[in-house]
Amino acid sequence: MYLKKLALAGFKSFAEPVELEFSKGVSAIVGPNGSGKSNITDAIRWVLGEQSTKSLRGKKMEDVIFSGTEKKKPLNYAEVTLTLDNTSGFTLDNLDEIVITRRLFRSGESEYRMNQKNCKLKDIHELFMDTGLGKNGYSLISQGGIENIIGASPQELRGIVEEAVGIVNYKTKKQEAEKKLENTQNNLERLKDILEEIE
Ligand code: ATP
Repeated sequence: MYLKKLALAGFKSFAEPVELEFSKGVSAIVGPNGSGKSNITDAIRWVLGEQSTKSLRGKKMEDVIFSGTEKKKPLNYAEVTLTLDNTSGFTLDNLDEIVITRRLFRSGESEYRMNQKNCKLKDIHELFMDTGLGKNGYSLISQGGIENIIGASPQELRGIVEEAVGIVNYKTKKQEAEKKLENTQNNLERLKDILEEIE
């Protein structure tokens, strides 16, 4: 799998729609200080579902929307679309291309789309779980990220290894199933109490 295309519109300093195409192998983004290089990696993290404004170097989520300059008015929404080549079958589904879009309006309303269909953030998390590509995946390493890995606790390191070997998805599903079992158990207890009261 590789990153094929990134389209930005109204995201941080990218007021006008911009499309960046990448080919297989190494790509480098170069430019003067403040030209928007880190905004591009922020956009990748954001479209993959990043919810932490701190990781996106802002104070509130609205800060990702173009806030205007002397010559340009602020915009009302930010949109990022990421296209991944999946011909190698990296994720478990059979799609040749995975296209993910995230849009956020100043009103706070937000949308996610996967291959042109509206979806939930959870669907995006599940698709990338165990691939290393999700918002917490190890394929996106920001400044200071390496030091964080070196200084990680044994539990944190175990989390990284578990993501790499692909068991996080099963662990999450197990936790969800355990929660459902617990809720069902509680409901059964309540039913038993009610039955005892009636009898
Ligand atoms: P450096 O090489 O110094 O790390 P960089 O190329 O990585 O710089 P970025 O940090 O990506 O640059 O971009 C910073 C620029 O983005 C600043 O000029 C900042 O004003 C602008 N910017 C950030 N958020 C917004 C926003 N919401 N609206 C408009 N401009 C924004």
